[in-house]
Amino acid sequence: MKMPKRLRTYCPFCGKHTVHEVEKVKRGRPSSLNWIVRQKKRRSGIGNTGKFSKVPGGDKPTKKVALRYKCIECKKMHQRKGFRVSKLELVE
Ligand SMILES: [Zn+2]
Repeated sequence: MKMPKRLRTYCPFCGKHTVHEVEKVKRGRPSSLNWIVRQKKRRSGIGNTGKFSKVPGGDKPTKKVALRYKCIECKKMHQRKGFRVSKLELVE
């Protein structure tokens, strides 16, 4: 999917349609402080690891992308719900 770098869309701060600059949000590393990670660690060792002994399912063919929209007028950024797309290109 091709996405224009600049587009006119609704700005929740201005309350109207303004030109926005689109920026891709970089994916952060999953936190190791997650409870599931701790649980997994505790269970790993000898014997059945319960629900973690299952073979993990295949990865989804598409990844969710999050985009940030920066309003040109008020310079504020807002985000929308991510959507699934196999490839995202930002074009001029
Ligand atoms: Zn604005």
